[in-house]
Amino acid sequence: MRRQRRGSSVNHSPIMPPLIEVTHPRGIYLPEADLWLDPHVGKERAFVSHAHSDHVARHALTFCTEITHQLMVVRKSVKKSGVVVALPMREVFEWEGWELRLLPAGHIAGSAMLHLKRKSDGATLLYTGDYKLRQGLSAERCELMQADTLIMETTFGLPKYWFPPAEDVIAQMLGFVRETLGDGGIPVLLGYSLGKAQEILCALRDEEWPVMVHPSVAQITGVLAPHLGRLPKWRLFQADEAAGHVLVFPPGAKLGLPKMRTAILSGWAIQPSAKYRYGVDLALPLSDHADYPELHETVKIVKPRRIYLVHGSTREFAAELRLRGHDARALGAEDQLELSLSVH
Ligand SMILES: [Zn+2]
Repeated sequence: MRRQRRGSSVNHSPIMPPLIEVTHPRGIYLPEADLWLDPHVGKERAFVSHAHSDHVARHALTFCTEITHQLMVVRKSVKKSGVVVALPMREVFEWEGWELRLLPAGHIAGSAMLHLKRKSDGATLLYTGDYKLRQGLSAERCELMQADTLIMETTFGLPKYWFPPAEDVIAQMLGFVRETLGDGGIPVLLGYSLGKAQEILCALRDEEWPVMVHPSVAQITGVLAPHLGRLPKWRLFQADEAAGHVLVFPPGAKLGLPKMRTAILSGWAIQPSAKYRYGVDLALPLSDHADYPELHETVKIVKPRRIYLVHGSTREFAAELRLRGHDARALGAEDQLELSLSVH
């Protein structure tokens, strides 16, 4: 593969090793390792941080976790002639002149960060992929590691994005379900089929309510069940038997049941107008991304010499980090559309 040289980032410090070069020729690319990070289209060699569709493509060589691999197989996003190297978390994998190590990202089941070390001089890089520091119910807790270069996502990189404690949001969700069932209605909880739906199911595990799920939620939950611990009793949705059940569906699914009430669970519910824009009865801010304070916390823990930002408010957050004395840059121009239903 031809190596891209755009956006060179050589460090001239006489003591520190030069930083690992990061470029963005329509995707994050590390030219020295000839490795792409979560590219949207098929490449020769790529790291896939997790199985959300905006991070997955068919590559000749893919590094990922075993869970992500299983999800990619189910979603038919593995290249037939391709090679997948499923790496266990935390273990060092020697590859050419590099040490690769996957770390839990806390985003969804199987999600991983990539920590890379150049063996010749010890220069390091951490790529977060999508992540959150808060402990979720359906994903392994995030583990950060020091690195010279940090590539981090900033989906919620504005000061207004502070999420309330997840326990409070879940308590609100359970209250909504209890009240709706008490009124003889059908509560419908809306969350992305991979990630949020399993988080919702785990939050329902201590309740007696029977659950029905959309086929896409059933497919993903079937794959992830061995990694999720105890789940409530759930089965596939059947309209004529839905009364008395809690429904778990992806946003945008058409239901049209009598007496149903809908609640969406999304980080974007933090926006005051979310309820109206999503057309739901309740919008609850449960996110699988880091919020604004967590982004700052991440920088504090990783202690990078240089920071690259991807997704969402990259320019704003980069400017803020620079004011705080960091070498921070927005990478690419992948602006995320707020409140898009495809956003998880
Ligand atoms: Zn994601």
